[in-house]
Amino acid sequence: MRTATDRSLRLKIGLFVLSLFVALSADTPVESTTSFGPIEFTVLRNGESDRRYIWLHGDEKTAEKALKKHIARYQGTAFLIRNHERIIRIDGLRLDPNRIFTPDGTSKTLMKYHPEASRKKREAIVELLNEGRENFLRQLSPPEGGLLVAVHNNSRGYSLDSELHDADDFTEKPGVTKYHGSLSEPMGKQGRRYVNVEVRLGRLKQQRRMLAYLEEHLP
Ligand SMILES: [Zn+2]
Repeated sequence: MRTATDRSLRLKIGLFVLSLFVALSADTPVESTTSFGPIEFTVLRNGESDRRYIWLHGDEKTAEKALKKHIARYQGTAFLIRNHERIIRIDGLRLDPNRIFTPDGTSKTLMKYHPEASRKKREAIVELLNEGRENFLRQLSPPEGGLLVAVHNNSRGYSLDSELHDADDFTEKPGVTKYHGSLSEPMGKQGRRYVNVEVRLGRLKQQRRMLAYLEEHLP
């Protein structure tokens, strides 16, 4: 026998299940993929937000973990390179993925790792990335007033090499432009806020706290 009370109870249970589903799914970023030329990225999107995050160096596993945990909790869109090494390979040649955000930087990173490769082969890769750059940056760039956060790790060996991260960008004299090809360059040109969150490899808690700090202190 069905009564009004049964129906009301079923409705309540239905609403409870629905709200539970909404609550759980709100914390689950939607996953998709995109690419910068031949370089593939996983995209994790959590809600509508002007926050963008990027993880570029495949061996910096602490930064990857920190970002994945962060984007599951806070709104924003994270771009994670699909690579397990620091260096990417295109057509057999190695490049630093944080040196390919300008044509000049791309030429230089190729020249650094492969001075022996033919000019033609290097130029073909530069061209390939030139073709894909604008589309990728359009997806990655935060809207005006937003924020892009790059996550990195350093370790004893790496921190001595100023080529690898953006630290050298911040010690330049004003008005002096060096074309390193790091992500800070197009963000600077577009006038977008860009923050580099870098900690020693293995310091997961510290990196998570820094990301949470930005969330709470940078509007
Ligand atoms: Zn890095």
